[in-house]
Amino acid sequence: MALIVQKYGGTSVGSIEKIRGVAERVVKHHKEGNQIVVVLSAMAGQTDFLIQLAHEMTDDPDPRELDVLVSTGEQVSVALFAMAVKTMGYDARSFLGFQVAIHTSNLYGKARIHNIETDRIVKELQKGRIVAVAGFQGLDENGDITTLGRGGSDTTAVALAASLKADVCEIYTDVDGVYTTDPSICPKAKRLDFISYEEMLEMASQGAKVLEIRSVEFAKKYNVPIHVRSTFSNERGTMVIAETKDMERVMVSGVAYSKNDSRVTIKKVPDKPGVASQIFEPIFKSGIVVDMIVQNTSEDGLTDMTFTVPQSDFYKTMKLVSGVAGKIGAEKVLGDEGVAKVSIIGVGMRSHAGVAQKMFAALAKENINIMMISTSEIKVSCVIEEKYTELAVRVLHKAFGLDDEKKANQ
Ligand code: ADP
Ligand code: ASP
Ligand code: MG
Repeated sequence: MALIVQKYGGTSVGSIEKIRGVAERVVKHHKEGNQIVVVLSAMAGQTDFLIQLAHEMTDDPDPRELDVLVSTGEQVSVALFAMAVKTMGYDARSFLGFQVAIHTSNLYGKARIHNIETDRIVKELQKGRIVAVAGFQGLDENGDITTLGRGGSDTTAVALAASLKADVCEIYTDVDGVYTTDPSICPKAKRLDFISYEEMLEMASQGAKVLEIRSVEFAKKYNVPIHVRSTFSNERGTMVIAETKDMERVMVSGVAYSKNDSRVTIKKVPDKPGVASQIFEPIFKSGIVVDMIVQNTSEDGLTDMTFTVPQSDFYKTMKLVSGVAGKIGAEKVLGDEGVAKVSIIGVGMRSHAGVAQKMFAALAKENINIMMISTSEIKVSCVIEEKYTELAVRVLHKAFGLDDEKKANQ
């Protein structure tokens, strides 16, 4: 008997019919003798709708109340799912984050899971029930509802799998696995049979939303195998697992992009100790994730500092930075709300020279200007104008041999 955590995303539970379909699939696995814990997202479009409602009420919704509101989407799905299972003659119980309980930090909208109590779930499983847990939500130390950030149901699922020591965490979605790049913008994208945690972490960090970043962090830390697969077929998908020797052979295994970035530049900052810390402290304290940071060489003791943040945090960041800029005597703050980032990812990069140059040349050939560059051991990212995103992804996919049938899957 295996213990399996299965997560179904928004499109997979987008209608009553689809929820019934999910219930049928879960019951089938249950009848095969497995213990199943199901994590569900809100029905497709619901979270966006709830956020929109909040913004119709006020420009600046209170973060605590926003979490109370947006967490209701998942409550609807788990309840309907449990009802569907019961109509099939099997027993299911739905639980919200606080009932489990899933304990998190108190950063509303971006809470981190600290620990999960599993007693209640284990008891329900022992009674032969199917357990459904609302994704994306938890409770903080004051007993208030928190949410984990967009796409956070993946994290709920993997964290639950780790806490329950499940055999596998299956992520059911609208694609049949992890591809060399987003198949919705690159028709030549190829499905991978497996990908290492490290590569998946970079892919997710660089924008491949098929898995949420923190879910991969959890999986890597607790060695939870993730199987990304389609809700609408029975085919095997992609296994996300620890790195194996064979993976080394591929120089670049994927191309990722993100259109949700923005760029902030502080002009003529005094170049002296403590300035960077003064600039970034309020940003980090607000839980805003700064991605790339570039500091120019200093001229006459003054320098320019440029960095990227998620578009959703752009206005907040501009406000915070403008406050600091006055204090430290910087000249001005410039912002560019919409930039894109394209990245190539591959563990094989460690042993290949010239990968970055090949990327720059491929972009240059299409006349795509590179605004910022950042590299790690297994990734190169370039910030470019948003309108070139799709073109850049396709060009890089081709340049690194990923269009080629044979190379795509190790
Ligand atoms: P869910 O609602 O099931 O959580 P998401 O929309 O969050 O699904 O994630 C699935 C989507 O991720 C796919 O429809 C696809 O467009 C996108 N995606 C981006 N990059 C990749 C990739 N490398 N492989 C597969 N899908 C990707
Ligand atoms: N419903 C949430 C969202 O749309 C969480 C999730 O689907 O994973 O972001
Ligand atoms: Mg998702």
